[in-house]
Amino acid sequence: MTHPQPISHYQQRLGDGTSCATLITEACTRAEADNSGAVVRVLNERALAQATAHDQRRASGDQRPLDGVPVLIKDNLCLAETAVTAASRILEGWHAPYTATAVQRLEDAGAIVIGACNMDEFAMGSSNETSVYGPVANPHDPQRVPGGSSGGSAAAVASGLAPVALGSDTGGSIRQPASLCGCVGFKPSYGRVSRYGLIAFGSSLDQIGPLTTCVNDAALISQIMAGHDPLDSTVVERDPQEVLVEPGDLTGLRIGWIPSHSEGCDPAVQQALQAARTACEQAGATVVEVALPHEQYAVATYYIIATGEASSNLSRYDGVHYGRRSDGCNSLDEVYAKSRSQGFGAEVQRRIMLGSYVLSAGYYDAYYKRAQQVRALIINDFREAFQHCDVIIGPTSPTVAFARGEKTRDPVSMYLSDIYTIAANLAGIPAISIPGGADQQGLPIGVHLQAPSWHEGRLLRVAQALETLQQK
Ligand code: GLN
Repeated sequence: MTHPQPISHYQQRLGDGTSCATLITEACTRAEADNSGAVVRVLNERALAQATAHDQRRASGDQRPLDGVPVLIKDNLCLAETAVTAASRILEGWHAPYTATAVQRLEDAGAIVIGACNMDEFAMGSSNETSVYGPVANPHDPQRVPGGSSGGSAAAVASGLAPVALGSDTGGSIRQPASLCGCVGFKPSYGRVSRYGLIAFGSSLDQIGPLTTCVNDAALISQIMAGHDPLDSTVVERDPQEVLVEPGDLTGLRIGWIPSHSEGCDPAVQQALQAARTACEQAGATVVEVALPHEQYAVATYYIIATGEASSNLSRYDGVHYGRRSDGCNSLDEVYAKSRSQGFGAEVQRRIMLGSYVLSAGYYDAYYKRAQQVRALIINDFREAFQHCDVIIGPTSPTVAFARGEKTRDPVSMYLSDIYTIAANLAGIPAISIPGGADQQGLPIGVHLQAPSWHEGRLLRVAQALETLQQK
C-alpha cells in the first residue's frame, strides 16, 4: 500500500520538472503491480502516448489544471476504443465507441485515464463480490470487502494507486465504499454531472462522482465534470462553480442530527459520530435534531424503483447488439434466453426478475406507482428538514468493512448496508462521505453529510471544515 497522495502532489512534481510521461509511467507500474483486485485493466500504451503528447503541448505553453494527474475510472464508464464491461460476462469483448462526457472533460483538463476499476456487476451490490473479475481486498484488511459497488475505485484511492477514481452512485455506491476504505466519496446533486457514457442502472438515481483523498480534490474534479451537456437532457444548466468549496468555517451553521441514525450503528460508528458532532459544536455550529419520517421506507422504495429501471435498462443486452452471444442456439428466443442466463450473474438476474415483476401489468400500481409516491414523501421530508438545518450529518454505513462472504447468502442484509445512503439518491440531493476515524482494529469509519440540491458548495464547506478538525 503506497501512501495516498492528493492531486496537489502530482502538480507539485510537475512544477518541479517531472514530466507527465514519468508520472504516468509510475502510476501505471503501481497499478500493474497491485494484486488487490482493485484494477481490472491498465491502459499502459494509451496512457503513455497521451502523457507524451501532453508533455509536448505543455512545452508549447498550453498548461492545464489536471496535467500529470493519473485517474482511474469505474468499469461502467465508456472510454472510446477500450473494453468496458460493467464487471459482467455479458459485455465480454465489447469496446466502447465513444467516451463518457464526465471522463472526456477530465481528459480535456489534462488528466490521463490509466485504467479501469473493479466493481459489482452492473453496479449492483455493496461489497464488490458480484464482479465477474472476483473480489477486491480492503486495503486495511485483505479478508474484508472494500464495499460496493465502486469497491475497486475506493480501494485504489485508499491504497494510493491514483489520487482520483471515478465511481457511480445509485444508492450509495460511491459513499459506502469510501466509508469502508477510508477515503472521500462524493455524489453530486442528480442532474449536476452528465450521465452520457455511464452504463445505466437506475436512470433516475444514477450519478457519477469522484473518490479522492481529500474534500478539495472531490470538489475540483466534480466542478470540471459538471455542467450542461447536450447529450444528457437531465443535466441542469447551472454554474459548475457552485460545486467548489464555499469559503467559511462552521460558525453559525445549523447541523441536522437524526437521533435514530446513530442508534442503529455499531458502537464504534456511534462513537465516531458523537466525536464529529462535538467537533462541529466546538467549531461554532449549532446541532439541531431533525426527522425524516418516511426514510424508514427508503430501502424498500429503492429496491422497487432501481430494479424496475434496471430491468428496462438491461433489456438491451440480448446477445445480439452488444458483447457476448451464447453458441448452439436454434432460435432467436434461445439466443436471448441463453445469452442472458449465461451472461448475467445471479444478483443481476434477481434484480431483473424483481424489476420485471414490479413493472408488470396488474402489479404496476401496487408497487412501482406506490414507490414513486413514497419517494415524493421522502423528498418532502428532506425539504422540511432543511428548513431547520443547513446540512445533515450521520453515518455513511452502519458498520465498518465486513468480512468477505459474510452477507452474500442473505441479500436483504447486504441491501441494508445502504440504509443511510439511499434516501439521498431518491431525493436527488448531494451527499458526501468523509473519513471520521477508525475502530479499535483500525478499520475506517465514514461520516455522511447531506445538503439540499444545488448546495454542494455548502456541503463541501462543512466536509472540509470537519476534515480539518479530524486532522488536528
Ligand atoms: N448497493 C446498492 C445496490 O446494490 C447501491 C448500488 C449503487 O449505488 N450502484 O443497488
